[in-house]
Amino acid sequence: MDGVSLKRPRAQEVVVETPGSQSSLHRANLERVVRAVRLAGSLTQAEIARTTGLSAATVSNIVRELKDGGTVEVTPTSAGGRRARSVSLSGDAGIVIGVDFGHTHLRVAVGNLAHQVLAEESEPLDVDASSAQGFDRAEQLVSRLIEATGVDRSKIAGVGLGVPGPIDVESGTLGSTAILPGWTGTKPAEELRGRLGVPVHVDNDANLGALGEMVWGSGRGVRDLAYIKVASGVGAGLVINGKIYRGPGGTAGEIGHITLDESGPVCRCGNRGCLETFTAARYVLPLLQSSHGTDLTMEGVVRLGREGDPGCRRVIADVGRHIGSGVANLCNLLNPSRVVLGGDLAEAGELVLGPIRESVGRYAIPSAARHLSVLPGALGGRAEVLGALALALSEMGDSTLLDGTAPGTLQTATPAFT
Ligand SMILES: [Zn+2]
Repeated sequence: MDGVSLKRPRAQEVVVETPGSQSSLHRANLERVVRAVRLAGSLTQAEIARTTGLSAATVSNIVRELKDGGTVEVTPTSAGGRRARSVSLSGDAGIVIGVDFGHTHLRVAVGNLAHQVLAEESEPLDVDASSAQGFDRAEQLVSRLIEATGVDRSKIAGVGLGVPGPIDVESGTLGSTAILPGWTGTKPAEELRGRLGVPVHVDNDANLGALGEMVWGSGRGVRDLAYIKVASGVGAGLVINGKIYRGPGGTAGEIGHITLDESGPVCRCGNRGCLETFTAARYVLPLLQSSHGTDLTMEGVVRLGREGDPGCRRVIADVGRHIGSGVANLCNLLNPSRVVLGGDLAEAGELVLGPIRESVGRYAIPSAARHLSVLPGALGGRAEVLGALALALSEMGDSTLLDGTAPGTLQTATPAFT
């Protein structure tokens, strides 16, 4: 592969072959730099050069031009003990919004293009309410938060939306979801776009958790990662070579339905002994009912386990070992460099991470396991809404930033999933 990339002509050489293309080359370089900074939040000039493949001198000139035009801000910083200049998009260049529908909550965050969260709020969501009511509530919460930040609505560059179910990539339709059954068949991005009048990009919660941890949390600097969330179901968000892998039906990462035991309990998918039947709350909590009562939640199990309760510790360890079997399969197939555990279970720390690593050590091919680190998520319950912000940031185009048009103009928005 390296031999191929060495032979490939540099970008500059390709473009200057066409007469009169000097300005389009310059424009392309501007967009490359803006894109690199937009996706990373902030970068030193050396990091921009590494990310874009442009020379240090070109980066320096472009950053100066972007700074003079008000597109980026440059602040002094230090990198490796040396003085450096940190480049980020201007705080007032625009805002992005993240909306996350969960099992029992609706969470909204407003951020600027420099990756700073300006406002964030969560409220309980009635899972039996209709999807229309849910989107109305989201619209109201978004409006309230924008008002609180004092930013003009015309500055909205885009919205990222998270839903707890698979999204068909072609049609944008929400597939079957056990968490919000009444929402199946709706087109969430269209619903919210109709209410807010700005581009909306949608993805499932596991993918957004992966994006959130990659941009702000335990997955920073990693290009191959799996985010595993254990809640009412078990799902994984897969990042391959820096990009979310979805599959055509949006169902990639259904790690919860790996078969662990052919004669195990019947799963909601119709098979027996899926990973989910050994790890999801509704299968695990009944194990503790006779000793701990019926009001116990996963959060409670984790809390009691940390306080030393032997039954809860045993259940957490068993769950960890089973997740580890799934992670070992994932490891053999995709060879990720990091697995990030999200959801309530991550709060159990080593009580669950130790058994996961133990199973990975036992079942994964040693050469694949050697490159893997298993870490708890750093963002807790915020991973998905921050991932929604990251989605909005990654899907917005740069031409609007460079041309000074209203960032959220629908016609100029890049379509989702390109
Ligand atoms: Zn299943």
